[in-house]
Amino acid sequence: MPHTTQRYDTLAAARNWKPGANGIKHMKITEIFGENTLSLDGLRDRLPKEVWKQLEKTITEGQELNISVADSVAVAMKDWAIEKGATHYTHWFQPLTGATAEKHDSFITPNKGGGAVAEFSGKDLIQGEPDASSFPSGGLRPTFEARGYTAWDPTSPVFLVENQNGTYLAIPTAFASYMGESLDHKTPLLRSVEALNKQALRALKLFGKDARRVVSTVGCEQEYFLIDQEFFYRRPDFMTSNRTLVGAKPPRGQEMDDHYFGSIPQRVLSFMLDAERELYRLGIPVKTRHNEVAPSQYEIAPIFETCNIAADHQQLMMITLKRVARKYGLECILHEKPFDGLNGSGKHVNWSLSTNAGANLLEPGDSPHQNMQFLFFFGAVLRAVYKHQDLLRVSIASAANDHRLGANEAPPAIMSAYIGEQLEDIIHQMLNGGLKKSKQGGLLGLGTPVLPDLPLHAGDRNRTSPFAFTGNKFEFRAVGSSQSISFPIVVLNTIVADAIDELCTELEKTIEKDGLEASLSRVLAETFAKSKDIVFNGDGYSDDWQKEAKKRGLLNLRTTADALPKLRDKKNIELFEKFSVLNEREIESRLEIWAEQYVTTLTIEVDTTEAIAKTMVYPAAVRYLEELSNVVKNGKEIGIKSSGAESMLKTVSEGLDNLGKALDKLRKVQETLKAETALEQTAEYRDKIIPVMTEVRDAVDFLERYVADDYWPLPIYREMLFVK
Ligand code: ADP
Ligand code: MG
Repeated sequence: MPHTTQRYDTLAAARNWKPGANGIKHMKITEIFGENTLSLDGLRDRLPKEVWKQLEKTITEGQELNISVADSVAVAMKDWAIEKGATHYTHWFQPLTGATAEKHDSFITPNKGGGAVAEFSGKDLIQGEPDASSFPSGGLRPTFEARGYTAWDPTSPVFLVENQNGTYLAIPTAFASYMGESLDHKTPLLRSVEALNKQALRALKLFGKDARRVVSTVGCEQEYFLIDQEFFYRRPDFMTSNRTLVGAKPPRGQEMDDHYFGSIPQRVLSFMLDAERELYRLGIPVKTRHNEVAPSQYEIAPIFETCNIAADHQQLMMITLKRVARKYGLECILHEKPFDGLNGSGKHVNWSLSTNAGANLLEPGDSPHQNMQFLFFFGAVLRAVYKHQDLLRVSIASAANDHRLGANEAPPAIMSAYIGEQLEDIIHQMLNGGLKKSKQGGLLGLGTPVLPDLPLHAGDRNRTSPFAFTGNKFEFRAVGSSQSISFPIVVLNTIVADAIDELCTELEKTIEKDGLEASLSRVLAETFAKSKDIVFNGDGYSDDWQKEAKKRGLLNLRTTADALPKLRDKKNIELFEKFSVLNEREIESRLEIWAEQYVTTLTIEVDTTEAIAKTMVYPAAVRYLEELSNVVKNGKEIGIKSSGAESMLKTVSEGLDNLGKALDKLRKVQETLKAETALEQTAEYRDKIIPVMTEVRDAVDFLERYVADDYWPLPIYREMLFVK
């Protein structure tokens, strides 16, 4: 049977999709914001004063939690959750695979009288014991001790997860082995927060500032694609790998689409409003939404929060986007490169430092050359990025992100920092005789009195930089759209703590003798001289930059296989151990898990590519070939030479041969794999498998251009990207 019916049915289903009873009548943000989360304020209102005071000490000063406090908190949480209709609770945690995990327990325990009572004690709140054997431990869990423990993180608010048939309370937790080694993303994140806090407070003290706490703040811009579910489920590659493994580019690619801030299609807008409403209810402060560069690509960004909460909220945001999209017959695709030849998706992680009083330590003010405290922290970040380029690169390494970094799009795999003209000029002055002035941005007049003059930013935007200073924060743009932001933040927090530590140590040497100002001038000039090679304000996509970066000795770790092994370099183990963020075993286990994940991803991709090529594309081409040969043969019988059909016959037949050859090669090359460790396998897959997978894809994509459309079994790019 020709595939016309099936493909056109899919199209019709997508086109005829109608909103069901999803309509939201009205949305009063102030009324719904945070209604599904028990914020710290909400918790305070429900706790006796004394208990709250002690809990606050745990949250703000890291004081150990007392079990009687935990019991009171547990009661308050349970009452709140049950009032809201919850029946179960779960310790919600982030295993190293990048997703989230949960195990549910009921609040309700049947009692002797045939009824039931709701039970949830401090012990249940503080500690849980999920079946840890199903989560990767990278060798951290000896087989005789399969247990893992979850531990409540009092700094991140609990929240409710709703389903039409029930509700449960989710408690953000850390996840560790019996030996106390971290099996998750949250633990090192919390440890890095402490390391950074300690060093930043030490620095502020030198500046005569008396802050109680310094945290890093994070706001993420999340990019994603939306396609109709009908298409998604007709594509085995989407189902197994979240991306298209075959598929020819649409005729004119992304230029054809409405632009960046073009109006948002109705169904998509309905989805966004609904998803945002869910996020508001969870207390996640979503702020912006817009179209992105590629067709069917969008972006959502919340207002920044402290990094630990931002990381939890980021996971919740990804889950919510995926879940709500389905209500609208859409699939939300978070993969870094779902469509070949189109812009991929990233996640810009905006990062800054804030005191407990809300002062942004990376705010330069109007005259940064006079703002030594800003220059100190700014200098520390540049020093950190220069010294630990490798770690930043490791923190974003994945099979999926390899399609962006080092390929010809998005930020390059070379880490560099964009800092804008004004700050570059300040560094220049500092290294050439001292600070005199700050170049000013001025005002942008729009030439009509009805429109206000707009303040010009002191530096233009540069979209090609993997790490950019954008006014009062740094923006780590090379992060992948589907990944957890935790490890990138762990790295940022830790390397900046390290740089502040080094700068403080230098300052402390001369501060008594020479005073703060003179010591600072010396230390900052030294650090800028040392790390200025990381600064690059130009076009990160250009070949010139590749050459220039090489001259400067910057790392260019193109692929995951290049990047991952750096994690265990002596320098990095020492760094993480020095600040008690990760120990050597925890580092090794991460390396192992991430390498395994890379290999698993590729194994699935290879198998799926092969299956699609063999069982869907090959048969389609054969059928078309048969039809063409009949035309040619019949023509000959009645004496008509159909040269068009003959040449098409030749083209398709060659295409089919090439596909056959590529498939043979893929099978053969798989037989030659011999690496034993997961880490060795990453390089083997990169060098041997990926090139042949690309050959198979090219052969398939060639056939897609020639095989009769009604024989083609897969939804094509044009349909998936332009039907909304
Ligand atoms: P852009 O200039 O990149 O378009 P926005 O000003 O809209 O960005 O902010 C992008 C993200 O950066 C938002 O999530 C925003 O909350 C976040 N952000 C702004 N200031 C800070 C800060 N001090 N620390 C961390 N994130 C911040
Ligand atoms: Mg941005």
